[in-house]
Amino acid sequence: MSYRGRIAPTPSGYLHAGHIATFGIAHRRARERGGQVVLRIEDLDPQRCRAEFVEAALVDFRYFGFDWDEGPDVGGPHAPYFQSQRTEWYREVFERLQAGGHLFPCVCTRRDLRMLANAPHAGEEEPVYPGTCRARKISGAADEVAWRFRVPDGREVSFVDRALGECRFVAGRDFGDFPVWRRDGVPAYQLAVVADDHAMGITEVVRGEDLLLSTARQILLYEALGWEPPEFYHCPLLCDESGARLSKRDGAARASKQQGLRSVASS
Ligand code: GLU
Repeated sequence: MSYRGRIAPTPSGYLHAGHIATFGIAHRRARERGGQVVLRIEDLDPQRCRAEFVEAALVDFRYFGFDWDEGPDVGGPHAPYFQSQRTEWYREVFERLQAGGHLFPCVCTRRDLRMLANAPHAGEEEPVYPGTCRARKISGAADEVAWRFRVPDGREVSFVDRALGECRFVAGRDFGDFPVWRRDGVPAYQLAVVADDHAMGITEVVRGEDLLLSTARQILLYEALGWEPPEFYHCPLLCDESGARLSKRDGAARASKQQGLRSVASS
């Protein structure tokens, strides 16, 4: 099978050097293998994503020489590449998980609803869910509750990461039942990313190390859906001088201002 990678920015802010470094590795790994690059805009969250950040990301990508074979401006068989336009597909996947008995409605999702559509980066992980709604009888319209995936407690989820080697996590200990659908009808990151990586035929997912736990969650989703997971390559995170991970607030990668970043992208 030929290599298919993806670059999947969330347009909720300007890209910083850490994004550029990760996307640079994703792009290079695809091109070195004669593979294809899919550009997918992960704009699920209507409250936080903005068209101007999409535009800015495309400008940055062009500046750093990241080209793509499918995605905005190019089209291709898997269009649309804006997650906000793919809800029908996510709903289909949601219904499949629901029919398989993997989901339960949850009214005690304390975590800020708005966050669920975004990948939980370093410091954004929710505490392990104690299972409060697992056995609750919940009445009320289906669209007034959030939906969680029930994880098999005590199950070891292991995978061989192409950068880090063997990784092992235990469901119910390292992470708990996780949300797949927001109360307001917006799919959660974990579901959308699996649905898309599968539909778009991605063979290797390249992303930051802080998403390792999400990979473990996603492997359980692949299993529940009867799909083969892609390979994974988790990159080290870039930190600032104080050792803190760069965040969107550092929005420092604007190509026009930060010429030196070209070396980050190609290192
Ligand atoms: N859109 C996600 C992010 O920006 C991508 C995470 C992933 O690669 O799965 O963090």
